[in-house]
Amino acid sequence: MGYSQFKGRKPFERASKIAHSEILNNPDVQAFVGSCTLPSEPEGGQVEALQQPLPAVEGRISSVIAIDGGMSEAAVRKEFPSASITFMTFGPLMLDLKDLSALDDQPFIGPEDMAKLKNLSRFSLSIPTKAIRAKGASRFSEGVRRTIHEFLFAKQKELGLALQWLLFRGWLPEAERKTWNVPRCPATPDCPGGEVPFSYSSPVEIECPYCGQPAFLSDALRLYERVDDEQGAGGIMSYLLTTLEQLVVVNVIRTLLSLRPSTLREILLIKDGPLAFFGMTAPLRTPMLELMSYLAKKDSGKPLLCLVGLEKSGAFVEHAMLIEPKLKPGHYLLFTNDYVYRYVIPGDPTNPQPYGFNTYYGSKLVYKSHRGDVFVATLPLIDQSIRDRFDNLQNATEILRAIAELRCSMYDQAVVPVVLANKLVSLADFPSSEILAKFVRNKLDRA
Ligand SMILES: [Zn+2]
Repeated sequence: MGYSQFKGRKPFERASKIAHSEILNNPDVQAFVGSCTLPSEPEGGQVEALQQPLPAVEGRISSVIAIDGGMSEAAVRKEFPSASITFMTFGPLMLDLKDLSALDDQPFIGPEDMAKLKNLSRFSLSIPTKAIRAKGASRFSEGVRRTIHEFLFAKQKELGLALQWLLFRGWLPEAERKTWNVPRCPATPDCPGGEVPFSYSSPVEIECPYCGQPAFLSDALRLYERVDDEQGAGGIMSYLLTTLEQLVVVNVIRTLLSLRPSTLREILLIKDGPLAFFGMTAPLRTPMLELMSYLAKKDSGKPLLCLVGLEKSGAFVEHAMLIEPKLKPGHYLLFTNDYVYRYVIPGDPTNPQPYGFNTYYGSKLVYKSHRGDVFVATLPLIDQSIRDRFDNLQNATEILRAIAELRCSMYDQAVVPVVLANKLVSLADFPSSEILAKFVRNKLDRA
């Protein structure tokens, strides 16, 4: 699950090798590729010049909460392989940094250690993916929307409260809170009804004044844009899972702020993947940025929150692997705009718009620990208008020091909590999806 994921070759990739080389030998393809800009390695001496040593630090983080999830799609009936449901399981995993250092000395992680670490509640959600109509819904798309809505506001109310708190800025005094508009009627694609406004005091389900169909507060995620009665909802699942994971982050922040805000400064929150809202969920980035700015001065004028997104795959991880030999232990390199567009994602290095300006709520860097582990991390900014400065990242020194401690030698380049969280929530395609499908069939037969 670590960086080794793309080192090893999966069986199907081996099988498709011939077709792959045929494509690359095609003169048209070669001419096309020759005219394209590809990611490249920085010129000699560049990486050495750009990296900086991590400053010394007090070391106040004592616990880690890792947030991660997994999902699996299962066909519901053998005769109709396309009728399917997706199972998601996700949630926080709390670990003590001392326990983790102890784990590092062990050759392997035993089942009793796993049990010790598996101590926080997990969430699980079953959601129609194709050709299944959920209970109480008039059609497939409404069933998908209703399932998500009921999950957030009836089954896991904590997460629904977290969504409300985020959308309406629940951390602000009542007079300063905001409203949230769903951009169009989410119920009927051709409904002439415009924006559907929600506020903290409004119900979470509103009837569209034009078509009379329900609009849900969970439609703020705009997943309805990519759910089709015939094509299904397969296209929304990864957006939904990562948004739910971020709602868990928000819920941890919300809960600790109301209980004892000072605990936040001792806890490292690790989210699997970058700190960003992609696709149609991107508008959620705005309130998240505001929350990050709010927390940036909450610890006597300094950042209170220790939040990091760690990546295990993608262009930035591949780039980190490429420059790894040139990174010095205990050093970091900021992925500045110029650097990203020049070497990682081919683009215009003079582009004034920061990379991920409408999706990310943080900035990226690569760090090599004293033990030689390399991490690609996103951290929230203190001042949103200042880019490309290490001291403008929230608690960066503290966070990187703690991440370096989390490493476990049995996993190649992996962060322990993320690996463990993956192990605990992973739903393998076989045979467990078969078991899950059986479970679904039994449920449907009884309904
Ligand atoms: Zn309508």
